[in-house]
Amino acid sequence: MARYLGPKCKLCRREGTKLFLRGDRCYSDKCALEKRNYPPGEHGRSRYSRRSNYRLQLREKQKLRRMYQLLERQFSNYFKRAERMKGITGENLLKLLESRLDNMVYRMGFAPSRATARQLILHNHFEVNGRKVNIPSYQLQPGDRVAPREKSRNLLVIEESLKSFGARTTVPYISVDINKKEGVYLEEPTRDLIPVPIEENLIVELYSK
Ligand code: SF4
Repeated sequence: MARYLGPKCKLCRREGTKLFLRGDRCYSDKCALEKRNYPPGEHGRSRYSRRSNYRLQLREKQKLRRMYQLLERQFSNYFKRAERMKGITGENLLKLLESRLDNMVYRMGFAPSRATARQLILHNHFEVNGRKVNIPSYQLQPGDRVAPREKSRNLLVIEESLKSFGARTTVPYISVDINKKEGVYLEEPTRDLIPVPIEENLIVELYSK
């Protein structure tokens, strides 16, 4: 599947916020945003002084899409699904993105970033409820158990990631047993529990045009 292969920190600088795309580096003082918090490029500092509504809406959408590392088409499909669901579209969108398997592997601390989580899943290192799943977009249901497969339990990247798990933002809708190397997606989160600093109503406005 196609994916973005360019410099990741550039994306954060472009959006002016941490998207947490590079694992532990994002939590250290090596984070590029700590040193250069302005858009990349020669005219980065002077770019976009005018703030139109459209620009705000577009940036909010790009921020969310890049945070979950999705391509334009995938993101728009998620939006269409969220619109068809009962409830508030913006909140539905976040719930759908949060319950992706690659996001949960990252949130549970088995991988330092969503990109690494996706790679590990694609390489058959994870199972859900005891069954191998190699689809990063696999949608988890409350109660699902996620764990590295037996042969992958001692992978260095998983071990190292679990060691620094405590330093990251944890969410209350999962439980993780670090010793057993197993996590459970407990319940569908409400908006206030999802630690994503996005104004999703702007994204809904953008797609409603
Ligand atoms: Fe973004 Fe992480 Fe790079 Fe910081 S280190 S700019 S949070 S990808």
